Amino acid sequence: MHLVWFKRDLRVCDHRVLHEVAARCAAGEQMLGVYVYEPLVYEAPDFDVCHLRFINECLIELRQNIEALGGTLLILQGEVLRVFEQIRKHFGVTKLWAHEENGNALTFARDLRVAEWAGAQGVEWQEFYQNGVVRRLRNRDGWADQWRERMDEPAYAVPERLSSPTTNFMGDVLNPEALGLKAREMTERQVGGESQAHDLLDSFLHERGMEYRTAMSSPVTGYDACSRISPYLSYGAISVRHAYQIGRARYRSINKETVAKGTVTLWKGSVRSYLSRLRWHCHFMQKMEDQWDIDVVNIARAYDGLRGDHVEWLEAWAEGRTGYPMVDACMRALRATGWLNFRMRAMVMSFASYHLWLDWRATGIVLARYFVDYEPGIHWSQVQMQSGTTGINSVRVYSPIKQVEDQDPEGVFIRKWVPELANVPSTYLAQPELMPELEQQFCGCVIGVDYPAPLVVHAEAYKKAQQQIRAVRANPDARAEAQQVYQKHGSRSKRRR
Ligand SMILES: Cc1cc2nc3c(=O)[nH]c(=O)nc-3n(C[C@H](O)[C@H](O)[C@H](O)COP(=O)(O)OP(=O)(O)OC[C@H]3O[C@@H](n4cnc5c(N)ncnc54)[C@H](O)[C@@H]3O)c2cc1C
Repeated sequence: MHLVWFKRDLRVCDHRVLHEVAARCAAGEQMLGVYVYEPLVYEAPDFDVCHLRFINECLIELRQNIEALGGTLLILQGEVLRVFEQIRKHFGVTKLWAHEENGNALTFARDLRVAEWAGAQGVEWQEFYQNGVVRRLRNRDGWADQWRERMDEPAYAVPERLSSPTTNFMGDVLNPEALGLKAREMTERQVGGESQAHDLLDSFLHERGMEYRTAMSSPVTGYDACSRISPYLSYGAISVRHAYQIGRARYRSINKETVAKGTVTLWKGSVRSYLSRLRWHCHFMQKMEDQWDIDVVNIARAYDGLRGDHVEWLEAWAEGRTGYPMVDACMRALRATGWLNFRMRAMVMSFASYHLWLDWRATGIVLARYFVDYEPGIHWSQVQMQSGTTGINSVRVYSPIKQVEDQDPEGVFIRKWVPELANVPSTYLAQPELMPELEQQFCGCVIGVDYPAPLVVHAEAYKKAQQQIRAVRANPDARAEAQQVYQKHGSRSKRRR
């Protein structure tokens, strides 16, 4: 009996484990799939109901797909070793299969416990990689070549047939209340599932993505122009390799005959940008794989103890009440939709870390829960990068005022998510507090009454933050440490360096 443990690989296409197990089923052996809702995961501070709902949608489709192949997927709850032991005793499991999980210290330690349990029970455990993240990587040199080799490997087709024993022991998807989680209202969240992932990629590569390269930076255009594939990659409803290969096939097919007149260059540029971002996906995940504590300690320890906690400011930022319209619109949109484009993610993070001088651990958790696509390795690397604590990336402080002028000059996005500002003239939208009092009353937005005054003054906060970061950077010990960080985590791409 083969037990297939699904974690962040909720698909049947390009699933190496299912492919291997299907070969055993063809030889007369049997399999069972299992997904376990683990308290270790759903009670952790970075878990949210939006993740659960997305996972559930993926599981419902996964179960249907596995059953259509003749197999069975158990959906159970509990501490994983206890669940596995019950299954082992009941079904006589001899081999456990899974994809490597490139998660945080908690899930890695849990995998070690599973390995120990398997060894003690005489259950053979076989794991495969499922992306470009290399386990036990010695050195970052040559990593990009390894990534490309993996992306070039042929994707595994959906298995033809699986075979499972009949059982009443199936379990089912659990709602938030059953797991003791508080529900949260969202209006435009992406729906999970393998077929959704493929439809989305198809519409991006053939309809929505032409202007991707230029439209990705604005929250007005980003929701439609970006691929939006991220949550499906995070929960493995599609593999990175498959997403890459589908994109590359599209890239190769773009020519005068396949796209509208005059758009070949646009399409090619956009699909190329998308493909390179899939390498970033694994590049950032690799950082956490190589250092499991980057969600709790500064990557460069020279920055330890730099920032403080200011609970009221943290709450105001998390709820979109900072008095900076672009920051507030982004935070409110994110809470409602579970997604934000890269530049706006970077801006809200930079605002929290530089302008409000908040500790990235507290703000990073808030964002982890808001993002449906929360992927620990990418998330915490980016959180630290946008907070200036990696020691190797240039310090980039986004101006929340300039971002309005650049990305939403007419206020389409801001007015939608911050209705208090609906009638504020565009000229004042970046800084409504500069409106004369009469104008405030005229447009129904009195600062301090209808909409908050800015928590901090941009120019002052920006200057102070830069001075503090520069002071650390100038320290010779910090420079020496930055060299070590670069050796461990730095991209070897000449352009990025
Ligand atoms: C503070 C912060 C936190 C972030 N947290 C996450 C996270 O938890 N999960 C997550 O998937 N992404 C995260 N990102 C990266 C990026 O913003 C998202 O991947 C992207 O916005 C997802 O939208 P998309 O699928 O339409 O991306 P597209 O622009 O269409 O790109 C396609 C794919 O490439 C990858 N990608 C794109 N940009 C990046 C990037 N800068 N770094 C790494 N991979 C990238 C993603 O897998 C993405 O799905 C974070 C960025 C910041 C600044």
